[in-house]
Amino acid sequence: MTTATPLLKVTGLKVAYGGIQAVKGISFEVRQGELVSLIGANGAGKTTTLKAITGLQNVAEGDIEYLGRSIRGQGPWDLVRQGLVMVPEGRGVFARMTIAENLQMGAFVRNDDQIGRDIENVFGIFPRLKERRNQLAGTMSGGEQQMLAMGRALMARPKLLLLDEPSMGLSPMMVDKIFDVVADIYKRGVTVLLVEQNASRALQLAKRGYVMESGEMSMSGDADQLLKDPKVRAAYLGE
Ligand code: ATP
Repeated sequence: MTTATPLLKVTGLKVAYGGIQAVKGISFEVRQGELVSLIGANGAGKTTTLKAITGLQNVAEGDIEYLGRSIRGQGPWDLVRQGLVMVPEGRGVFARMTIAENLQMGAFVRNDDQIGRDIENVFGIFPRLKERRNQLAGTMSGGEQQMLAMGRALMARPKLLLLDEPSMGLSPMMVDKIFDVVADIYKRGVTVLLVEQNASRALQLAKRGYVMESGEMSMSGDADQLLKDPKVRAAYLGE
């Protein structure tokens, strides 16, 4: 892979649930070292797109290339092993395990002696998790569970981190905290594809952005240009 090769390249992706076309032939890419935001209303097909990339949903047509090679048809575990890691909508923490155990689970694909050190790194990013390391994940607040889900994903040492609506359902203070952490993770060198309904915050953070509408990619460009665009402002920024 040369530096010009995108880390992730999606071409003509179509995904259907039975007869319902949820994703209708979209193309986009994420380059090494970028933070790219994918915004769109409820039901636009954003989650379906992430599921198709991570092998959780069948692809009807099109291709997905990661690190310069097609990954279409590969399963989620293989992809995590290659550094393609998703934090799902709704967090998906293991409710009956402690925070520390959840973080250990994140390292399931690894077989090295750095796991303990990486857990300490995650505690450095999220001191709250360290304070509560022995608490059951299911008893934590939504914001804390989001932190844990992100910490667990970092334990897999992602090259590309896919975040599905990390700010959903959180208090304004927690939303600030989560966006700060996304920026921090990105500054540490992880390439990020951020799916958000909070278009304003997502585009402020990103270098480039894509807008999805009814299963299609309706706009794309530099995030600051999208933020200024009257159509984006009217549809997604409540103006
Ligand atoms: P949200 O922000 O609400 O998650 P989204 O942009 O992520 O929205 P998707 O969840 O990808 O959108 O949904 C895209 C379309 O596919 C919607 O019309 C939705 O109803 C439909 N859909 C999603 N999951 C399924 C499923 N398992 N079976 C049938 N239809 C589904």
